[in-house]
Amino acid sequence: MLERIEEIRAEAVAAIDAAGSSAELEGLRVRYLGRKAELTGVLRGIADLPPEERGEVGGVANKARKELEALLERATEAQDAAELDSQLLADRVDVTLPGAPPRPVGHQHLIARTTRQIEDIMIGLGYHVAEGPEVEHDYYNFTALNHPEGHPARMLQDTFYVQSHPDVLLRTHTSPMQIRAMETQPPPIFIVVPGKVYRRDSDATHSPMFHQMEGLAIAEGLTLADLKGTLLAMCQGIFGGERELRLRPHFFPFTEPSIEVDVSCFQCGGSGTLAGGERCNLCKGQGWIEILGAGMVDPNVLGFVEDYGYDAERVQGFAFGLGIERVAMLRHGVPDLRRFFDNDVRMLEQFS
Ligand SMILES: [Zn+2]
Repeated sequence: MLERIEEIRAEAVAAIDAAGSSAELEGLRVRYLGRKAELTGVLRGIADLPPEERGEVGGVANKARKELEALLERATEAQDAAELDSQLLADRVDVTLPGAPPRPVGHQHLIARTTRQIEDIMIGLGYHVAEGPEVEHDYYNFTALNHPEGHPARMLQDTFYVQSHPDVLLRTHTSPMQIRAMETQPPPIFIVVPGKVYRRDSDATHSPMFHQMEGLAIAEGLTLADLKGTLLAMCQGIFGGERELRLRPHFFPFTEPSIEVDVSCFQCGGSGTLAGGERCNLCKGQGWIEILGAGMVDPNVLGFVEDYGYDAERVQGFAFGLGIERVAMLRHGVPDLRRFFDNDVRMLEQFS
């Protein structure tokens, strides 16, 4: 019995020495020290031995077991360290190698870029940028903006309504945020609202989806002169410092008085004639380009937010709205608005 224990011990020591991986070592642990191992069987059978042999066999077998355990532990530690080392070596990155060749990166869509540019101009004037939902309630899109029942803008041919909820629609302008913003903060308020709007319309200058920038200013003592100064600063920021404005009377339900605003043509300098003597194609010889609608906020609109601190006797203000696509088309000579949304990269790449 003692000889057999020594045989097992010597065999195990040699196998542990020769093992080349931690998986192999784990296999040896099971084989020599596991529940079914011969040495384990010997230790378990000691009680059945004649009393005079028990002490010696037990001592030798236990010693062999402890030796193998210690040996396996040391070998496993050494093996783990070696495996980690070789993995670190394999994963090493040579930081002195040249970098990967530059990949082509995209750029902002012209509509996004134009939006950001106008936002930047307005932030410079002290405005905040506010965004609102594209699916809107009739109340915010029309009613609270002083659109009386039966107003043409409410009729189905202009507006996308949700069939199952007749009072829910795709907003036809970003103006609903006027009301939403005033409901959340008292005056004074100076915001611009960029975003997508929807109308049933499609031709070279109209798309069922397009982008608007709405502006709202409410404070004590604001007048039409403040509106004109604000729009002049905005239009000069967009079209160049030489631009002038022309205001024409107009009608919008939610402003009173309402105006349409023309900017002096930036191609012909407002003369309507190009250097060669021919008629300017951009302003069609007029010298002026219609650019946006605006007006003083109708006191009726403030009546809808009176409970939020907007007393029409105390605060006044103005609102304006311009089409982002129109600005981009004018500035970059794009003839058809629908080209912005065709996703033709050849078209979009021109504006990188
Ligand atoms: Zn012109």
